[in-house]
Amino acid sequence: MVEVKIDLDKCDGDGTCVDVCPVEVFELKEGKAVAVNPDECLVCQACVVQCPAGAIEVIE
Ligand code: SF4
Repeated sequence: MVEVKIDLDKCDGDGTCVDVCPVEVFELKEGKAVAVNPDECLVCQACVVQCPAGAIEVIE
C-alpha cells in the first residue's frame, strides 16, 4: 500500500501537486494539500520532486 504524506507545516498550498499528479490524488482544502485519493497513486514521484516546499513524501 502506498502512503502519501504531506507535511502541513511545510505546505503553503500553492497547488503544484494538484497540477502535476496524473491521477488526481490531491485536492486543496482550506489552503493546504490533502491526499484524497492515495489509493490511485502510481508512485511516479512527480509531486515529491516538484513540490516547491518539499512537503510531500510518497512511501511504498
Ligand atoms: S507520486 Fe505521482 S501519482 Fe502519486 S501522488 Fe505523487 S504525483 Fe500523484
